[in-house]
Amino acid sequence: MRLATYHAHTDLCDGKDSAEAMVLGAAELGMTDIGLTAHAMYPVASEWHLPIQKYDEYVDEVRRLKTVYADRIRVSLGFEADWFPGLSAPTRARYAPFSPDFLVGSVHYLAPAGRREATGPFSVDGPIDVVARGLEECFGGSGRRAATAYWGAVREMVESCDFDVVGHLDLARKHNAQLGLFDEGARWYRAEASACARSIARSGKVVEVNTGAIARGTMDDLYPSGWLLSVLARLGVPITVSSDAHSVSGLMAAYDRARAALAAAGIGETYWLSEKGWVGEPL
Ligand SMILES: [Zn+2]
Ligand SMILES: [Zn+2]
Repeated sequence: MRLATYHAHTDLCDGKDSAEAMVLGAAELGMTDIGLTAHAMYPVASEWHLPIQKYDEYVDEVRRLKTVYADRIRVSLGFEADWFPGLSAPTRARYAPFSPDFLVGSVHYLAPAGRREATGPFSVDGPIDVVARGLEECFGGSGRRAATAYWGAVREMVESCDFDVVGHLDLARKHNAQLGLFDEGARWYRAEASACARSIARSGKVVEVNTGAIARGTMDDLYPSGWLLSVLARLGVPITVSSDAHSVSGLMAAYDRARAALAAAGIGETYWLSEKGWVGEPL
């Protein structure tokens, strides 16, 4: 049985441990596959992205680990690539110079349409005070407007970019419990998220069940929510489980909760990255 994560950070971006420590840690846990995914916004970078001058070092190191530990664990080279319209996008063409095995596409930045430079953007998973200020400046404090913009951004990314895995699909929920931004059960919210789920189903992309918020103590739940996971299951969207680990200790954090969520949603298989692409394996 495959035991995998296709979302892991290292000390070359905002993680704590080296790529080699992450690979060895995963092997020691009995994992069969690890895909490393440096935060990337090529050709630019913020303080939490892989610096532009470190791309070659990252790629060379992951390729070296792939060879050195081939008999213990399957290592894949990936990027968690940001969607930032006009600046960067998670597309094969953009990352072709680095020949990645796969790309995770993520929306972290949010800004109101047409006002990107005036008032934004801000990172929806940033510190709570940054998110609160960004919401006020960009969306007049309206959680509904912010969530609608978030789902619009994810849909646009899914429909216009050729990446593999949709990262932390409903990340905008991260501070919802503390900030009380929107009602996840509201008709408008479910319509936005469902429309995005249908786009994903049409695109053939994989969605990760991401346990990272639990490991880091930022939200006591998985991405996506149980409700959204059941929508994805009905649409037949391929699912993989990832920890979004930023240290060795987070590599398999809350995997028991992920498995329980898959069972509750009626999902009987998870996807892993073989030589021939993403394939499902029964749980
Ligand atoms: Zn992310
Ligand atoms: Zn991540």
